[in-house]
Amino acid sequence: MSKRQPSTISVRTGIETDSTWGAVVPPIYLSTNYSFSGYDHKGPFDYSRSANPTRSLLAEALAELEGGAGAVITNTGMAAIHLVCSLLGPGDILVAPHDCYGGSYRLFEALSGKGAFETIFVDQNDEQALSDALSRSPKLVWLETPSNPLMRLVDIANIAKQVKEQNALLAVDNTFMSPVLQQPFEFGADIVVHSATKYINGHSDVVIGAVIAKTTELHEKLAWWANCQGQTGSAFDSYLTLRGLRTLVPRMRTHQENAQIVAEFLEGHSGIKKVYYPGLESHPQHELAKSQQKGFGAMLSFELDADEQGLINFIERLKFFCLAESLGGVESLIAHPATMTHAGMSAAAQLEAGITPQLLRVSVGLEDSDDLVSDLKQALDGVAS
Ligand code: PLP
Repeated sequence: MSKRQPSTISVRTGIETDSTWGAVVPPIYLSTNYSFSGYDHKGPFDYSRSANPTRSLLAEALAELEGGAGAVITNTGMAAIHLVCSLLGPGDILVAPHDCYGGSYRLFEALSGKGAFETIFVDQNDEQALSDALSRSPKLVWLETPSNPLMRLVDIANIAKQVKEQNALLAVDNTFMSPVLQQPFEFGADIVVHSATKYINGHSDVVIGAVIAKTTELHEKLAWWANCQGQTGSAFDSYLTLRGLRTLVPRMRTHQENAQIVAEFLEGHSGIKKVYYPGLESHPQHELAKSQQKGFGAMLSFELDADEQGLINFIERLKFFCLAESLGGVESLIAHPATMTHAGMSAAAQLEAGITPQLLRVSVGLEDSDDLVSDLKQALDGVAS
């Protein structure tokens, strides 16, 4: 049979597999443990930390969506990132983006600080800086594209080529795109990481993560560490996430249609200094986004032309954008990276990464786009009030 398309994978995984009652939707297995069929006869499942039937279905779907050999479902996105760090030991080098998600930055910095490995943070679009970092023979290179919160892209295929020359592994945090809009294995990645809390679950009611490996060998190694360290996700969270995943493709379609409308509106408004959205022609990597991604996603950032009070006025007037962390849910959100998502970074690191006090990040939801635009318009009208 030909390769299944993303909507089919999302909708059909596990459907009609219940041999007990013929349930169309796969039931949730909450049991901690599973009986052996006899002395020394273990079935496919024995203890839910190691493996669980509900979690396995979600892993199967995500591995197929990304085109990998296997996936490990973890209890948070950060646990997924931490799990990948288990591949590193003292003396190993990790090359990570200087503007990665604040939680990833904090984890890499903290683990390096206690000697677990060494991290080199680098602007991965600075060819010289990247090549200097790669010449130190890293074991792992981390990418996040588009980056959080400034939507900077990196060319995965180009970096993958350089990483392979160093015999290093390449991991990509694909949270912002979801497997529907970007498949890093196509471009040479070895590991894909998701905060499945975001688009994959899509309903802001689960915190969960995933690591997908390109090869069976790497998958087995990661699954071993996840069991050893107790990082695997719960059956209930896996069940909810599989439920959310069913609609991933149509959600992503509407998310990005709305985001394009919102981005164009903001770009045309005199109260906005700059908009960062790969779907705008003004985005410096618009062409790369067109070739590497299957869409532009629904995350955007912008700089408000206002002082701190103006920024507060703007945020307080918004009705359809919740001031909240996270992203990728059906509801629109707005965040102030400097005091929220990226507060874990020092002021100097924030500035280095381009995070100014006027920067706001939006996760565009599935509300009606006319309502979103008129809400932004009325809030912008009140900036000076
Ligand atoms: N990666 C990215 C790009 C994120 O935005 C986040 C959270 O916002 C994470 C990883 C961490 O995921 P979680 O919050 O599920 O632990």
